Amino acid sequence: MSSTVLARKYRPRNFETLVGQAHVVQALANALTQQRLHHAYLFTGTRGVGKTTIARILAKSLNCTGPDGSGGITAQPCGVCAACRDIDAGRFIDYVELDAASNRGVDEISQLLDQAVYKPVVGRFKVYMIDEVHMLSNTAFNAMLKTLEEPPEYLKFVLATTDPQKVPPTVLSRCLQFNLRPMAPQTVQQHLGTVLENEHIEAEPGALRLIARAARGSMRDALSLTDQAIAYGSGRLGEAGVRQMLGAVDRGHVVRMLDALAAADGAALVGAADALRGLGLSAAGALDELAALAQQMAVVQAVPDALDETDPDTPQAHRLAALFAPDETQLIYSIAVHGRAELALAPDEYSGLVMVLLRLLAFRPKNAVPASPPAPAKAPAVAAAATPPKTPAVAKAMVMPAAAVPVAVTRVVSNEPPPWMDAPFEDEVVDAAPASAPAHEREPVAYGAGAPAPSTAPSAFVPTALGTRWAEWVGALNAAGSISAFARELAMQAECIALDEGATPIACTLRVERESLRASAPCEKLQAALAALLGRAVRLDLQAGAAADSPARREAEERARRQAQAEQIIHDDPLVRALMAQYKTARIVPGSIKPH
Ligand SMILES: [Zn+2]
Repeated sequence: MSSTVLARKYRPRNFETLVGQAHVVQALANALTQQRLHHAYLFTGTRGVGKTTIARILAKSLNCTGPDGSGGITAQPCGVCAACRDIDAGRFIDYVELDAASNRGVDEISQLLDQAVYKPVVGRFKVYMIDEVHMLSNTAFNAMLKTLEEPPEYLKFVLATTDPQKVPPTVLSRCLQFNLRPMAPQTVQQHLGTVLENEHIEAEPGALRLIARAARGSMRDALSLTDQAIAYGSGRLGEAGVRQMLGAVDRGHVVRMLDALAAADGAALVGAADALRGLGLSAAGALDELAALAQQMAVVQAVPDALDETDPDTPQAHRLAALFAPDETQLIYSIAVHGRAELALAPDEYSGLVMVLLRLLAFRPKNAVPASPPAPAKAPAVAAAATPPKTPAVAKAMVMPAAAVPVAVTRVVSNEPPPWMDAPFEDEVVDAAPASAPAHEREPVAYGAGAPAPSTAPSAFVPTALGTRWAEWVGALNAAGSISAFARELAMQAECIALDEGATPIACTLRVERESLRASAPCEKLQAALAALLGRAVRLDLQAGAAADSPARREAEERARRQAQAEQIIHDDPLVRALMAQYKTARIVPGSIKPH
């Protein structure tokens, strides 16, 4: 390995070798080829994404004379003429780079602009590259503005900034703006692979992946880290060495934490933090890795095949994604990144880490219902009632204190009659809600048994015995997966208004509103599926009319009931109340309350 630093050695010298900014390269190359040149360009983007590199290539494109000295403006600078070589070497007299971060006063800018009145000495164009232009003082901006408004035709400005918000609009409006993107880790990893192959340096893919992630979109940082890693690993890039160098935490530790969290195993969680401490690994690194893994899990949950299948971490992300609901994954991510920012405030790094892990546990809804008496308000996490007789109803909501971290609140309650309900809870009865309940709750209005409800306005739901029987059958058919498409839709939308189970075949009259569902094909399929289910022949008669007690209606009522219950749980919750009282502008994010 020579002493040439990789970042310098592999700085792209032409547009073709510039990685990851195809959209900018394309636009600039077209402008150069068609000679439609703007007099000022503004490149925005985070550090190390190629702003200065592009400025230099642009300067070469404008000044290149070609290998034989007869070339003109080009999108493919030759790299061998005097102009190209001098710009690459940083000694071209007509190309000036000024770092506004260290030369922010009006004097430096005035000096530069004074020179602007003179024609280029050797080149076709003078190119002024002002990096971190947002750092210029206002007077410096004003001095520059005059030249920007009426630049001599031989002068080009290339401005670059990591913070375009701080560039005055008067300057922005005079520039052609290009936004350089942070590079994707895969792009960085691929490029590192190519570079190291050229250098004949052995590297484990895992090592490159770690560096690519740590570089956070900056190719320059990635190459500098690679330099360091080569020195650290005595000329070889092993995953373990790079991990150690970066203070990165082996994903295995984080996987164990998530498994402990999924099992609601507090001892294992604290044990995982202790293990990190024992190995002298960084708590910040652990939370970084946790956030990275949660991000991958969230991607898997939204788009199952989106992850790179060749990444050895992908199967693990798939496995863990199945253990958590998408909103829990969001919460894990959020708590991990915010917890990392809080580490500096913690008494020490590890206590900070333990608190973050315990916070994750506190907000974990599943398995978090110990068979304990109802928790008093002091328990910040889960107010649990007695062991639920059925599936516990879990209510969640995001509470958003203004300008603060969103707080996710999860509550688990049993299906026991909640204290605010007067009547016992039955599956088939939607009870009247208290006056404070959401508007969609309503008093039941009784209809004559089997009487058609008006098809327009939603009517109160009154379950019927026949409806219950029909819902049982349809539930069994659905569970067996024996009906689909139209037959399933017919079954779900129909109300059973007459049934003779003693007859042969069993005679069943259904009322269904949609005409398309009363066609013979879905009816025959449903008939056959029912016959298979009951082991006896079934005859369905279909009648037109609105179904008041269909399985679909029952499902909708059940959803509404659980939603109302969830909203009530959240509104009555001591933690939510405390948050709302503490932050005067706090609000419950609309639509975020979800029964679970
Ligand atoms: Zn050239």
